[in-house]
Amino acid sequence: MSDATEISEIDVSDPDCLFCRVVSGQVAAEIVAEGEHVIAFRDVNPVAPLHVLVIPREHHPDIGALAAAEPESLVELVRLAGRIAQEQSGGEFRLVANTGAAAGQSVFHAHGHVLGGRAMTWPPG
Ligand code: AMP
Repeated sequence: MSDATEISEIDVSDPDCLFCRVVSGQVAAEIVAEGEHVIAFRDVNPVAPLHVLVIPREHHPDIGALAAAEPESLVELVRLAGRIAQEQSGGEFRLVANTGAAAGQSVFHAHGHVLGGRAMTWPPG
């Protein structure tokens, strides 16, 4: 294997990132679905009957960075979110991507919250 391949493998994962460690299996999670570039697992602190996180396998700090670097993975993320909601909450759901600490982001690895199974209000808090 060439040095270039090894460097690119290191670049896509951050050893200090919680969700990179979920992707690698170092942190346990209840995985509900997997795609080529994304995985989905239940949020450890659910705020709705359906609360799943869909994340890219590669490390990007937020959804905008993911869109810029890997647009195909963002599309896959949204598609998988819809499929999970179809299967688990009748296809009605809210897809949330908190971006930045002031917006409520606490894990700086891009993710979408798939929320469903109850009525939602607007605006969010
Ligand atoms: P955010 O605050 O938008 O960055 O979302 C991060 C989410 O990750 C929160 O809803 C947490 O409950 C969730 N979370 C944190 N650690 C874990 C974990 N080990 N497994 C599953 N979900 C987690």
